[in-house]
Amino acid sequence: MGTFRALVIEKTDAGQTVGLRDFDEADLMDGDVTVRVSHSTLNYKDGLALTGKAPVVRRFPMIPGVDLVGTVEASSHAGFKAGDAVILNGWGLGETHLGAYAQKVRVKGDWLIPLPAGLSPHQAMAIGTAGYTAMLCLMAIEKHGLTPERGPAIVTGAAGGVGSVAVALLARAGWHVIAATGRPQEAEYLKGLGAAEILDRSELTGPVRPLGKERWAAGVDTVGSVPLANVISMTRYGGAIAACGLAAGMDLPSTVAPFILRNVSLLGVDSVMAPKPLRVEAWNRLAHELDHARLASMTSTIPLDEVMEAGSRIVAGQIRGRVVVDIG
Ligand code: NDP
Repeated sequence: MGTFRALVIEKTDAGQTVGLRDFDEADLMDGDVTVRVSHSTLNYKDGLALTGKAPVVRRFPMIPGVDLVGTVEASSHAGFKAGDAVILNGWGLGETHLGAYAQKVRVKGDWLIPLPAGLSPHQAMAIGTAGYTAMLCLMAIEKHGLTPERGPAIVTGAAGGVGSVAVALLARAGWHVIAATGRPQEAEYLKGLGAAEILDRSELTGPVRPLGKERWAAGVDTVGSVPLANVISMTRYGGAIAACGLAAGMDLPSTVAPFILRNVSLLGVDSVMAPKPLRVEAWNRLAHELDHARLASMTSTIPLDEVMEAGSRIVAGQIRGRVVVDIG
């Protein structure tokens, strides 16, 4: 067994340290599939892990990175063989299990799904957990029975990763998309992704009224807290908001009024432990329903040694769209 390059978080008495180093293959964790990683990506959660701002990492030393695409090197799992192209999102990768910011991982084959036809490895990580979660949100809205005829759909944190993909997917599905952002300078970018209207974030950060003016029939919320409470209070009768994020905070200072007087629903969306059939459905839809030019317009690419700096920027809300990490 040899070594491979990895970004490693260590815990010390003074806090945590993060650095690139050679990692011993013998120290990889249990799993029935070994994957040579080609690309990973940067999600908000990766930023939290890298900066230590929230207790995402549950084991030290840890290789962070919750998303990967790569090629199977060795497998004793019936579903995968050497040479297969695979994706992994979540399942504790980069939190409890050694993760994706490394040239190699050893994981459970049950966590993997095949790279869908029509997506390159780079495109798969341009989508990443953020894009796959945006698709889970759209699927939740659709399963609720909502269609674009019911009214507009709002996306909060629209210029972020989940938000950018959600704008593109909802617009492609025929929704009149209202993109809520704290970065008005990104209006043209968001319109390029399919947003019909831009809403200044400040319209969602004021005091929460039990019921506000009915403005949208559906929504994807990536920020939580006061903005989500305001989004709920302005949702039309019978509408639903898919909630997946907490960039503004974990609290939800709402009232029951929208739920019991307007029949509004809050749809919780988790990507990490989502069952495999849902993942496969989401990824197959992403391969067909996400415009490749729009995906490219929201994506930048960095090498592994720039991930730490980018991690600080995503937690500060300074990253636009999606960031692919080229593992090299
Ligand atoms: P990003 O940082 O790319 O996007 C978050 C966006 O939220 C920012 O770009 C910004 O958008 C907005 N924002 C940031 N800070 C604040 C604030 N204080 N108040 C209001 N809005 C703010 O992160 P991701 O897209 O990767 O993730 C978004 C959220 O979704 C995170 O909380 C993440 O943990 C969560 N998530 C959850 C998943 C799940 O399984 N449930 C899976 C993936 C992500 P703008 O500048 O446009 O206002």
